[in-house]
Amino acid sequence: MQKWIISANSNVYDHASAFAQYGYIDWTQKVKYSVGDEVYIYCTRPYKKIMYKTQVIAINMPFERITDDKEFWYNLEKYEKGRSGIFARLKLIEQSDNINLTLEKLCENGLKAAPQGPVKMRKELSDYIDIYLCDTLDYNSLGEEEMPPDCYEGAKYTIMVNKYERSSIARMKCIEKHGCKCMVCGIDFEKRYGELGKGFIHIHHIIPLATIGKEYKVDYENHLIPVCPNCHAMLHRKQHGGYSTVEELKKRIESHNK
Ligand SMILES: [Zn+2]
Ligand SMILES: [Zn+2]
Repeated sequence: MQKWIISANSNVYDHASAFAQYGYIDWTQKVKYSVGDEVYIYCTRPYKKIMYKTQVIAINMPFERITDDKEFWYNLEKYEKGRSGIFARLKLIEQSDNINLTLEKLCENGLKAAPQGPVKMRKELSDYIDIYLCDTLDYNSLGEEEMPPDCYEGAKYTIMVNKYERSSIARMKCIEKHGCKCMVCGIDFEKRYGELGKGFIHIHHIIPLATIGKEYKVDYENHLIPVCPNCHAMLHRKQHGGYSTVEELKKRIESHNK
């Protein structure tokens, strides 16, 4: 089994959403992969990080056999160009948006230069990457080192968050779309606390877990919103047997503070 590193241009294709939708990507195959090989994906600007680990589950597929993923292409010219090639199916194994997987850190741990085409990877480097490549929120980047993996501690409450709210990739997509302001009360932590508050926000998943079936795929753009810890706690607080929606919570704040 070989390990590879490939680079992905984030301005050409929306990898995060494609993985969320299908759990794999059919990728132009430029080298001789074997089924079972592991392929790590380095995302170019603005991320400049390894963000995905995949496994090759099919090789040498012609365009006619691949999944139609046109909706995830930002650059349709490039999409059309790819049609004449062959494809490998890369199944998602791990994903993470982690500060320890930046180009700089990778270079400190054995990477020679920014990855371009597929190159084979040494074991020291893949061992290093594997430590950080798992889809849990990087609490260190929030400054909450002691935080248990599945709850946000508050003074008087604990919020149990689901896996979508813990996902660092979900967080990245959500902030890209909505910015870093609370969508209920509007607080912007950087505006209030300066540099210290920069990038601080919780992510709330608006689809009730009880209504989610097995086939559910998270929609990063529409199912996740940035919220402050206070509003987040209120969204997870039951009253009269149910939870408030974002709109209801906004109305509560408005009517209560008249
Ligand atoms: Zn808020
Ligand atoms: Zn939530």
